[in-house]
Amino acid sequence: MNLAPQFTHRVADSLLEFIYPPLCISCDRHLEDGSQKVCSLCWNSIERLTEDHPLYLDTKQKLLEAGFLKDVVSTFVFQKEGAFQHIAHFLKYRGYESLGLELGKRLGGVMEEWNIGVDVLVPIPLHKVKLRERGYNQAEMIARGISVVTGIPVGTNIVYRMRHTQTQTKLNLEERKQNMEDAFGVSAQFSSMIEGKTFLIVDDVITTGATINSCAEVLLKNGASKVIAACAALAQKDVAGQ
Ligand SMILES: [Zn+2]
Repeated sequence: MNLAPQFTHRVADSLLEFIYPPLCISCDRHLEDGSQKVCSLCWNSIERLTEDHPLYLDTKQKLLEAGFLKDVVSTFVFQKEGAFQHIAHFLKYRGYESLGLELGKRLGGVMEEWNIGVDVLVPIPLHKVKLRERGYNQAEMIARGISVVTGIPVGTNIVYRMRHTQTQTKLNLEERKQNMEDAFGVSAQFSSMIEGKTFLIVDDVITTGATINSCAEVLLKNGASKVIAACAALAQKDVAGQ
C-alpha cells in the first residue's frame, strides 16, 4: 500500500488523539479542538479586569508614580490555583507557546476597547541564556498575539537584557528594583528608531513593576516619547512570582 505521507501523518495524529484525547491543561476536561489547550469554561472562569477594578487602579497608580510609564493595560486578575496560573505556567515552563499568542489576542482586544494606541510593541526580553533554554520568549508570543489583533509591529530586538538577573520571586520591592537596575540596554542598530515613538512594553504578569519600569526607563533615556505597560494579568504582590 502506498499512502501519501500527509495521509499517514493524519492517521497517526487521529490515532494518538483517540488513545490520548486532548485535555484542558487547567481542568482536564476533554477538548473538542486539541489545538486549543484550554477549554472555554476555564477561559471564562478567569476574572477580567476593567478600568475601574480596584486591582487595576491600585497597580496603575503605583506604576505611574515611578515616573516612567504613562498608562497600563491588562486583561486578567492573577489568582493562585486559578486557570490563569495554569496557563502562565504551561506557557513559561512547559513549551506551550501558542498560549502566549492566545493571551496576546485577548490583550489586543482589551487595547482596542480601551482605545490604547502605540507605534511599536516591545516584549520584555529574556537573557540569551534563558532564551536558549526555553526556546522562545513568552512575552514575545504575547506581543505577537497583540499584533495579530491590532496590526502594531513587534520590535523584538530593540531592547536586550544585559545581565542574567536572578529570579525575583523571593525578593521584596526594594530588592527587585536593585536586581533590575541596568538590566536592559538598547541595541545600537535600533537606537535611531526609538526617537519620538510611543512604545508598549509587553510582559506576562506584573506584580511590583520593577522589571517593566526598568525597561521603560531605558526606552525613555533613548528618546522614546511615551511608554505604556501591557500584561496578560495583574497580580497582588506576593501572589505571583515574576
Ligand atoms: Zn478547562
